Amino acid sequence: MSQLADKPSIMANNMTDTITKPNSSNDSAPSLEQSRNTAGQSWFNRSIPGIKQQLTAPLTAVETEPSTKCSSCHSMITNTALIFNGYVCPHCDHHLPMSARERLNWLLDTVDGELGQEFTAKDPLRFVDSKPYPARMSEAQEKTGESEALIVMYGKLRNLDVVTCAFDFRFMGGSMGSVVGDRFVQAAEKALEDNVPLVCFAASGGARMQEGLLSLMQMARTAAAIERLRIAGVPYIVVLTNPVYGGVTASLAMLGDIHLAEPKAMIGFAGKRVIEQTVRETLEEPFQRAEFLLEHGVVDEVVHRHQLIDTIYRLLAKLCRVPNVDAQ
Ligand SMILES: [Zn+2]
Repeated sequence: MSQLADKPSIMANNMTDTITKPNSSNDSAPSLEQSRNTAGQSWFNRSIPGIKQQLTAPLTAVETEPSTKCSSCHSMITNTALIFNGYVCPHCDHHLPMSARERLNWLLDTVDGELGQEFTAKDPLRFVDSKPYPARMSEAQEKTGESEALIVMYGKLRNLDVVTCAFDFRFMGGSMGSVVGDRFVQAAEKALEDNVPLVCFAASGGARMQEGLLSLMQMARTAAAIERLRIAGVPYIVVLTNPVYGGVTASLAMLGDIHLAEPKAMIGFAGKRVIEQTVRETLEEPFQRAEFLLEHGVVDEVVHRHQLIDTIYRLLAKLCRVPNVDAQ
């Protein structure tokens, strides 16, 4: 049970210990026992007959530090503990989401540069749903501190040069607009030019409806860029994180040489509810979970986040023919 959930019982015990009961025989004069108890206290802390006094229990770390609630077991975890544990809940092992920037900084030992910052989204359709597209973009930029839903960095993973990209699901659901396509293609071109592997962390709700056909075109663009990598023999690894859906699943997320997935990640094209309504069947757990897709051959391996960096490195080192990888 969480530390916070334990707290009321601790406080309740303390309360019963420290409540000063009113003196039934004589309310105005303190009893001999009460005088003895209060002899060592300052006048400020001294209990007053007839008034309940509650001693505060020492504050726990989650009460004094910025903390996050685990969405699975609802435990409170300090942000420091969460960062040190790679955003994995220490109580139930649930993999909490990581922002794209945190993800890439966590993966790379050295960051040599970032790509694609020059691309900015246009509003060619002048799309308005509950609010205009530019307003939605500004809101997402303010919330995440990022200019778009895909971040591309290149640098070193141990002794290997790599180009990496990661989707930020907080940015309009990690949706794939034209800038996401631009950045992904630039990442693939950089990998091709330098002949270094490309690693993509996918987390997306799919295409970005505010850009209509331009968004759907990114599926073909990214697929073509990956094909150029394949022809040149440049490794491309996809890590499927929770969740990956729609146009991203239908393009760059399923075209890797190797597909890894984080435990219990939801991966699919259409959502479970849509499929249930179409086929008129109830789909039980673990439908669309990483483990289910592993059984059905869509995913090559489900890897715990604590082993993910090592797994990616070993796979890339093997694919790049680095000698003595197993000895490291
Ligand atoms: Zn948890």
